Amino acid sequence: MSDIDYTDRGDDLAFETRVIHAGQHPDPTTGAVTTPIYQVSTYAQTGVGEHRGYDYSRTANPTRTALEDCVASLEGAAHGYAFSSGMAAADAVLRQLSPGDTIVLGDDAYGGTYRLVSGVYEPAGVNWVARDLTDIDSLESSWPAGAKLVWLETPTNPGLRIVDIASVAELAHANAALCVVDNTFATPYLQTPLGLGADVVVHSTTKYLGGHSDVVGGLVTVNDSALGERLAFVQNSAGAVPGPQDCFLTLRGLKTLAVRMDRHCENAAAIVAMLEAHDAVASVLYPGLPDHPTHATAARQMSGYGGMVSFLAAGGKEAAFSLVTKTRLFTLAESLGAVESLIEHPGAMTHASAAGSPLEVDDALVRLSVGIEAVEDLIADLERALDSV
Ligand SMILES: *Cc1c(COP(=O)(O)O)cnc(C)c1O
Repeated sequence: MSDIDYTDRGDDLAFETRVIHAGQHPDPTTGAVTTPIYQVSTYAQTGVGEHRGYDYSRTANPTRTALEDCVASLEGAAHGYAFSSGMAAADAVLRQLSPGDTIVLGDDAYGGTYRLVSGVYEPAGVNWVARDLTDIDSLESSWPAGAKLVWLETPTNPGLRIVDIASVAELAHANAALCVVDNTFATPYLQTPLGLGADVVVHSTTKYLGGHSDVVGGLVTVNDSALGERLAFVQNSAGAVPGPQDCFLTLRGLKTLAVRMDRHCENAAAIVAMLEAHDAVASVLYPGLPDHPTHATAARQMSGYGGMVSFLAAGGKEAAFSLVTKTRLFTLAESLGAVESLIEHPGAMTHASAAGSPLEVDDALVRLSVGIEAVEDLIADLERALDSV
């Protein structure tokens, strides 16, 4: 092991190699091939303040460092910071704002992000506006004076519309604002926002990065070192850090990200074709469809169209409610991005907190998180449920 360069993160390697190796080396003391779970809170010091980079696990922990370095490498970022949930990661970014500042939020942002902005930051004096970020011209003409940050998701949730990251980042920078991208839905396998001009990438690692519905976590990546230091300061000061076991599980899930994403995309495309032909479906929302309103941006910006599929039930809310209880393999549950397929009703579940706001969703909408099971089983399951409503 003597010739291992422990400072080499592995950024020169291909994506499929980095998900397995970036930030991870055989353990220097034992040679353990997998980064161990450093279940420890404090570290021996050789003299006062003299240590090997670790003094207390809220500040830094070796299992967490491996996860932070791996995801940072995948996003093409200099720095990564892990948090105990995606919302804690989002909160660390929003703490960079001060009372009186304004956030521009995409108009179909994740429900939890909307709740954090409207229910926690607004009462603390931070202003926000919701905008259709797919319409750059109207975004430019309606840009709120003095906005400090634009928060975008693409594909959006649950509408699966595609936002042109490069255009929004350019507009944000022209107005001295930060461009933050929640990359949870696409993952760095399908798109890397920092390379398109974004300043900050946020993840709920609970979803595709972890990939197995067994751990909640969040991550923030940036290139700017000063911003990175401020994020590390919040991470250490507020202390919403993941434990080493959670970091280990996320790293374990990450190793198969590339192969899982290929299968998620393939299965989703086959299911979309079936839904398009079914009478019980009024319309299918999937960025891979040539008639999807933002398909051209998706084709330019992404290397695949992802595993999330939304559709409007022809029978409206009642049909949508009935449908989500009739599948057997697609489990009725919130969350997304794991190996197993899930189905949900965004209006009554993930996006219930947006009711009555500009972010309210159509109550005929059904959202699928297409898993990596055999696609013929998934199609048969959905067809049986659709035939019965
Ligand atoms: C789930 C999710 C979050 C929140 O992450 P948690 O890990 O649940 O806190 C944020 N953004 C998007 C797009 C999500 O899907």
